[in-house]
Amino acid sequence: MSIADWYRQYSEGLAALSRMLWDHPEASEKEYISSKLLKQYLVSHGFEILEDGAAGLETAFVASRGNGRPYIGFLAEYDALPGLSQQCVPSPSPVSGQEYGHGCGHNLLGTGAVGAAVATACAMEEASVPGTVFLFGCPSEEVMLGKIVMAKNHIFDDLDAAISWHPGDRNRASEESYQAMLSVEYHFHGKASHAAMAPDQGLSALDAVELMDVGVNYLREHVPAGVQIHYVILNGGDKPNIVPDKAAVWQFVRAATTADLHKVAARMDDVAAGAAKMTGTTYTKKVLTGCNETRIVPALVEVMNQVMDEIPGPEWSEEEEQYAREILDHLGRTREETEAAFGEGTYEHPLHAGHLKPTGRTIDILGSSDLSDVSYIVPTCMLFAACYPYGTPNHSWAVTACTGMSIGQKGMLYASRVMAETGFRLITDGELLDRVKASFRKALGTSVYEPVQ
Ligand SMILES: [Zn+2]
Repeated sequence: MSIADWYRQYSEGLAALSRMLWDHPEASEKEYISSKLLKQYLVSHGFEILEDGAAGLETAFVASRGNGRPYIGFLAEYDALPGLSQQCVPSPSPVSGQEYGHGCGHNLLGTGAVGAAVATACAMEEASVPGTVFLFGCPSEEVMLGKIVMAKNHIFDDLDAAISWHPGDRNRASEESYQAMLSVEYHFHGKASHAAMAPDQGLSALDAVELMDVGVNYLREHVPAGVQIHYVILNGGDKPNIVPDKAAVWQFVRAATTADLHKVAARMDDVAAGAAKMTGTTYTKKVLTGCNETRIVPALVEVMNQVMDEIPGPEWSEEEEQYAREILDHLGRTREETEAAFGEGTYEHPLHAGHLKPTGRTIDILGSSDLSDVSYIVPTCMLFAACYPYGTPNHSWAVTACTGMSIGQKGMLYASRVMAETGFRLITDGELLDRVKASFRKALGTSVYEPVQ
């Protein structure tokens, strides 16, 4: 069956599957129902589950269909976010009793990737070409875990190319490099004592945390451009009349490059050591996770963009545009603001049609993704597809409101088909795949994959 025919036949089913995931939003590392639904769909479409609980992660899996090389992988995510429960209505309205919601649209991301894998496999069989399609079920993206652990366990090593996507507000083949990132806790250890009667005998771990934060806030001024630091205090002691013997702060460091990240992380360790010295305390460091920045493969961006030139994007109905305008109103985004940022007519027609052309350069963006580590191992590309109105902040109720209904579903089906066509071209055109691999080697330069932590 051709890819176009496949989507004609199965789009409705895919949309329904994405809605089932939306109806069961699950926390990172707990995506039991979501991963099961996706696996069931794959198995019912001729895929074999090669690994269940891949890389020691309960809700990770690897499925495949086909024979021989090349190996093309599609990457699925399916975790949800706390605090973003929302009904399918265009105003803030949580589902009562439900904490989680698909405010990053991973119900669409996972389902779209699964659809692309099946459609590609069907098209390959019809064309009688060798090759194997893999679907990687990658859990826990929101806590920067799944693909990092899978990468460290060499799950992606044999692939010839990896393809993914993410819901967004505009359609484009991504040239965007996410930030390298480190998530690290500093736990200070002091000595408890009565804060009034024997303060001289206490060593305050909380003082160390506060001094560390002051030091980090001074450090901010002297970091390479593009570095961001954010933190929360995890533990500041129990009661004011007890000198806290334990206190902890959780820091995120982000940088445009992994090299900058390591430099700033080393300075942060010095700040922690200084805070410990000043307060007579000691500290231990717990690195939770980290990722590299993304390596963009220009030749692969070009393939994906060519596919997008040929495949029509979604057509939005008047009801969908009205829904999107109501969301913008509730987000407080005025016509003026929207049009100033996205162009004339974008308030009247708040859902993107068509696609943005590549610029030919890598664009540094804010935020991080565990996809970046995969991009060091194998030529990797992704697209963004419009699944919500212009300027909608990700990780918001407004995203949840769109990812459970036709706006998000249409974006997903478009992205899925673009991914399938891209995968099919890479499988069937050896020269193209060679060009992509050369472009990847050039993008990588002398760097080799090293996990950040
Ligand atoms: Zn996401």
